[in-house]
Amino acid sequence: MSPSRAAVYRMRTTVISGLLALPSALLAQEAAPPEYVSTKLSDTVTMIEGRGGNVAVSSGEDGVFVIDDQFADISSALLEEVARLTGEPIRFLINTHYHGDHVGGNTAFAEKGAVIIAHDNVYQRMSTEQFSSFMNSTTEPWPTGALPVISFSERMSLRMNGEIAAIHHVANAHTDGDSIIHFPVSNVIHMGDTFFNGFYPYIDLDGGGSINGFIGALETGISLADANTKIIPGHGPVTDVAGLKSYREIVIKARDSVQALVDQGKSLEEAIAAKPTAQWDEAMGKGFIGPAQLVTFIYNSLTGVGSFTRIEANTAASH
Ligand SMILES: [Zn+2]
Repeated sequence: MSPSRAAVYRMRTTVISGLLALPSALLAQEAAPPEYVSTKLSDTVTMIEGRGGNVAVSSGEDGVFVIDDQFADISSALLEEVARLTGEPIRFLINTHYHGDHVGGNTAFAEKGAVIIAHDNVYQRMSTEQFSSFMNSTTEPWPTGALPVISFSERMSLRMNGEIAAIHHVANAHTDGDSIIHFPVSNVIHMGDTFFNGFYPYIDLDGGGSINGFIGALETGISLADANTKIIPGHGPVTDVAGLKSYREIVIKARDSVQALVDQGKSLEEAIAAKPTAQWDEAMGKGFIGPAQLVTFIYNSLTGVGSFTRIEANTAASH
């Protein structure tokens, strides 16, 4: 056993010791959990960083509700972390969108009694087979127990723990089912994946995302915030409205640069070769989304292609 394997084994042993009440079949599917980092952002709201999308928990006199639940194979460990923070049953779970690194824990959370809430299109996509051109993969429909029980079209309010948490649908942004959740008293906003703090955005064109909707979502987040608002991105560290505004400026400039190339009649390959995002590539293009992929999302979105185009340059630029 290598040192790293030994470390993983120790982590696994530690977590399993707290989960003896769970069925063995469920334990067998569990991956080694991440080391969770939980940050209290207000009297009631805490952010949890682990593996997958950032989670937020509101806990107070009315109980617990959770925003997003990372991957299926670490759902027991995330439930343990939420229990450690709150010590109460989870009443509601909100999914910011349908991706598996945000909804993977749904079945396990629902089995614990959480009522799942999401936009209508999250229900629609989770209940049917989905193909992603970008991932080049098909996702089977989720089991019934993982699906949202309550869905909504535009806005929803959750009155809990001393404030009205406002759930805002933002259209055709990262996907076609994105929600931004605003806690006005706590002064916290969860942006879902309409904000990748420190990284180029992933725009899921097959999932109904678009560059202009993505910018619109950033505008909505900015309009809800003040100078003291704590802003939770879908991925990356917590930040403030200044961080969100500078991200918006970069995304707008990237959009405008690609639009100029489209207007000049450049092909997608020519637009990528022109490196329109070069000034930010070092700082923001080293993550999940590289410059060629970002330009492809923007180009295809602006020209109405509506899905990711696989080209040779993506492989070279992805790492
Ligand atoms: Zn996502």
